[in-house]
Amino acid sequence: MNNNVKVVIDAGHGGNDPGTSGNGLKEKDYTLLISQYMAERLKDLGYNVYLTREEDISLTPNERVNRIINAFGNNSDVLVISNHLNAGGAEGAEVIYALRNTDELSNKILNNLKEIGNPVRKAYQRRLPSNPSKDYYFIHRNTGITEPIIIEYGFLDNVKDSKRIRDNYQRLVEEVIKAISEYKNVPYSAPSISNTYRVKNGDTLWSIAKKFNTTPLELKKINNLNNNLLYINQILKVPDFIETIDTNINYVVKNNDTLYSISKMFNVTVDSIKSNNNLTTDILSVGQILNIPVGESNVLVKEDTKSDTTNSYIVKNGDTLYSIAKENNTTVNTIKELNNLIDDVLKIGMILLLPTNNIEEIITHTVVSGDSLWSISKTYNTTIDLIKSLNNLTTDLLNVGQELKVKRNTK
Ligand SMILES: [Zn+2]
Repeated sequence: MNNNVKVVIDAGHGGNDPGTSGNGLKEKDYTLLISQYMAERLKDLGYNVYLTREEDISLTPNERVNRIINAFGNNSDVLVISNHLNAGGAEGAEVIYALRNTDELSNKILNNLKEIGNPVRKAYQRRLPSNPSKDYYFIHRNTGITEPIIIEYGFLDNVKDSKRIRDNYQRLVEEVIKAISEYKNVPYSAPSISNTYRVKNGDTLWSIAKKFNTTPLELKKINNLNNNLLYINQILKVPDFIETIDTNINYVVKNNDTLYSISKMFNVTVDSIKSNNNLTTDILSVGQILNIPVGESNVLVKEDTKSDTTNSYIVKNGDTLYSIAKENNTTVNTIKELNNLIDDVLKIGMILLLPTNNIEEIITHTVVSGDSLWSISKTYNTTIDLIKSLNNLTTDLLNVGQELKVKRNTK
């Protein structure tokens, strides 16, 4: 089978460039696993596939671009899927597309991921500050007329995202493949076994079942096992990715709160609060904890993603970015960047991440001539790795005028 659709799969980072990391996962390892799985599946579906790297090797941006262009030539029908993982304190997938392309494929991918309950952020383009007619990322800027997208599957420093990526990256990749297939008009069929797990030293049916949110009995059933013995490297079928993403937040009832006022605050119905909390009456008591079923759209960053460098804040009636910034001793831009806000519009009930008490603050540093990652890290008392991960940098090269998010430590 050959459908003539050409896809270059780029496993981000590699070798001496680990990318970002968090919760025990290294970006370069998982971009490779994701890319290899994607390549196998696309080949199965009849695509022409090229992988920029098949092992843990270092590639300079130039080498990477050369491999991409040389794979199928500099043609606009060549898709380039650059796989990455994010860091920086938020949750969810995002896709970045080139200035020369539309957001069609990017939005298809995010819609598919959203449909399986995976949190998503947005599809966007990013311009080079020193020359806004150009793309910010070299994978867009230097890849001719091909159609490149960067997929950030999630945040490794977020517990839920990192768990989804570790246990279920295949499921996420399937949604990307579905989107590509729809975009390129290629028939899609699901893999015969949607998920497998290779048994490691020390694994038991119990530990594996726990990892995949199932039971030892269920594992035995789907693998036709008649005893509990496992051997190392045994391939087990594991249940499909079904996860209920908890978008609820706990609200502590305050003086003068009513079900009605709380429902307005979070833009939900009184009935949904009552049913969610098994309330048989409308009477509330101060200090009572209510589980509020806020919709995904209101939740920019989940409260439990809170790290020790951020606080979360629930937007209340009358708040503006300016008032929140002032109250919390930070700036409107810091809040916007921390929360990936594209405009100044706030919704009541929205959860915002705020920097903590100015001890560590994320600020924007504009690169000037002579700056290096090292000199910037010294200036702000931070590390090169942190600057790179905050900005998704795949290289140490900086451009004058480039804007970097930097975590300033004033301790
Ligand atoms: Zn990356």
